[in-house]
Amino acid sequence: MTAASTSPEQAWTIQRLLEWTKPFLERKGLDEPRLAAEILLANVLGCARLQLYTRFDHQPTDDELASFRGLITRAGEHVPIAYLVGFKEFYSLSFEVTADVLVPRPETELLVERTLDLIAGIEVGAEAGVDILEVGTGSGCIAVAVCKNAPNAKFVATDVSSGALEVARRNAEEHGVSDRIVFVECDRLDLPPEHLVEGGFDVLVSNPPYIAEAEMETLPRTVRDHEPSCALHDGADGLSFYRTFAEQAAGLLKSSGRILLEIAENQGASVEALFEGGKQFKHTDSWRDTVCGHERVMCFEVIPQVSGAGEPV
Ligand code: GLN
Repeated sequence: MTAASTSPEQAWTIQRLLEWTKPFLERKGLDEPRLAAEILLANVLGCARLQLYTRFDHQPTDDELASFRGLITRAGEHVPIAYLVGFKEFYSLSFEVTADVLVPRPETELLVERTLDLIAGIEVGAEAGVDILEVGTGSGCIAVAVCKNAPNAKFVATDVSSGALEVARRNAEEHGVSDRIVFVECDRLDLPPEHLVEGGFDVLVSNPPYIAEAEMETLPRTVRDHEPSCALHDGADGLSFYRTFAEQAAGLLKSSGRILLEIAENQGASVEALFEGGKQFKHTDSWRDTVCGHERVMCFEVIPQVSGAGEPV
């Protein structure tokens, strides 16, 4: 692709650029080459993707062609398109993403929906709000989407990555919910005492790294080579976060507090066994992914512990 030629049939119009780029990206093994080409070209031209179709004969400038060329080279190296344009839509909101955070996935919208349903059913005093702990917030997409849609939601949202927390803070700011999300750098449930909620959180929500380390090799290159590995795998069997939650989360939750978790397609039975085996939680619900049909989100409720005298402690 060189500078626009003077001859009309040779000029790089929007239509020709898209026609050239799709097979280029297809040969590189991208899943949705046409969509990727459109997103990148719209980004370079500063227009909405659908507007490309109303300007098929438009000829981008040499600078725009150079930018586009740079982007499709990176896309051909399997860099996620969301990293190249710097944002990803999730739950009808636009989120900043960088290589420090997992690209928000459509399946995780189910976790947001179920969290919203759950908190709608929790009775709280007018001012109290619903206290939610999110472990592994990444871009902050879950906490921000929930806060945008539930004015009574309040989050403590954690991550081990300071780079991710910077992105999450900007997303919360951008969407006007930073007054209801406290971001904390910590691992799993090692919450500094000042962030614990008296009486316990109402809900713990998490989309933890659930890929087994041994399965990383099977992931698409875009994911495996470019997304942060600490957001994908747990260095073990993919179940270690659930194990930690089953063993330790009850102490952070109210006596009938709930945990909502995203899981991988084949983990439902194992995750249920972990929680039920620990005797601190009961499985209340599971919801299936509309695309793959497997359980994708699971809910567990704390079983109030009974003291020797038969009174809840
Ligand atoms: N759902 C992501 C994927 O399939 C993984 C996210 C996670 O481990 N929580 O790549």
